[in-house]
Amino acid sequence: MKEVEPKDQQLMVALRIRPLSDTELEEGATITAHKVGDQMLVLMDPGEDPEDTLRAHRSREKTFIFDTVFDQHASQEDVYRATTQHLVEGVVSGYNATVFAYGPSGAGKTYTMLGMDAEPGIYLQTLTDLFRAIEESRDNADCSVSMSYLEIYNEVIRDLLNPSSGFLDLREDSRGSIQIAGIMEVSTSNAQEIMQLLTKGNRQRTQEPTAANRTSSRSHAVLQVTVQRRSRGTDMLEGVHVRRLFLVDLAGSERASQTQNRGKRRKEGAHINRSLLALGNCINALSEKSGSRAQYVNFRDSKLTRLLKDALGGNSRTVMIAHISPASTSFEESRTTLLYAYRAKNIKTRVKRNLLNVSYRIAQYTDVISDLRREIERL
Ligand code: ADP
Ligand code: MG
Repeated sequence: MKEVEPKDQQLMVALRIRPLSDTELEEGATITAHKVGDQMLVLMDPGEDPEDTLRAHRSREKTFIFDTVFDQHASQEDVYRATTQHLVEGVVSGYNATVFAYGPSGAGKTYTMLGMDAEPGIYLQTLTDLFRAIEESRDNADCSVSMSYLEIYNEVIRDLLNPSSGFLDLREDSRGSIQIAGIMEVSTSNAQEIMQLLTKGNRQRTQEPTAANRTSSRSHAVLQVTVQRRSRGTDMLEGVHVRRLFLVDLAGSERASQTQNRGKRRKEGAHINRSLLALGNCINALSEKSGSRAQYVNFRDSKLTRLLKDALGGNSRTVMIAHISPASTSFEESRTTLLYAYRAKNIKTRVKRNLLNVSYRIAQYTDVISDLRREIERL
């Protein structure tokens, strides 16, 4: 197994600040988050400051560095190109990849991932590039791309493209990779059709109003893109290479306590906090694996991390795009979002080629496969 250069070991953490909304302007909110250069963000505590001296001013500033910072001037294409485009090539040449949109409700996650007809987000731009890349790389191999779109709500999986199918289960297949039993897989390369499917699917997401008086998504929406490549080599060997790209619009990260949730809302909040915590823990544990503090990574802590096990398990490239509002009224949410994303930045997954051969002489390869699996477990 060929090891890849360190420069290919990739976790990117990006931050996107959306424009101030009309409602925020009406509420008299001021701007509290400022982009400085390409990678820095300065967050100003809007709290009371009786002595407006330079020193007092400085102590109210917090600086965060990310791989990339986008402000309200960044277009959908700018965000896609800087965060996700390179993953498409990776998926074609043999890696898994995951993109997360993280942040509180209303911060711009769905805008980044789904976007709108005139300003399509990462979902559509990724699929369009992927179809193009496969078209161009056709060589002695049959490639097929399919997508499915699901939500995880209260630790239950629902098919957003086929909501009548009820609750779906995760299963491990004979090769040890996680599958969603009974999920609808769609293969179309028509951009307009994809956008319609995803927009319709997105309307099926579990939305609940919170005390913050806005619609918040209480579910994680996952667009799962599967690329299968069947190659026929000489000496009777046939290989099926399966790569997965997960594009995840996470549930709002606001805390249950902050939105004064009660009863059912509080239970949802607990599930969301738990899965976001599990995700953060997995990412963090992975970052420490190569060091002496290697620890057991518990992907089983939530449905989300279980589903993403292969994609986070060291054989993948990962991008997290954290989202915040620039408004002073969202200061506390922005601060906790920045801290979470900053913590994730420690990740150093080792990227390896995802070659899983299903051959006529499978018996001979069983050992290789279990070695590989052990190696992946160890990562
Ligand atoms: P979330 O999915 O995080 O709850 P949304 O993506 O629904 O948030 O964004 C909330 C509102 O802000 C929507 O009306 C959306 O169109 C708008 N919005 C978010 N990000 C941007 C942006 N970068 N530029 C313009 N409008 C945005
Ligand atoms: Mg949303």
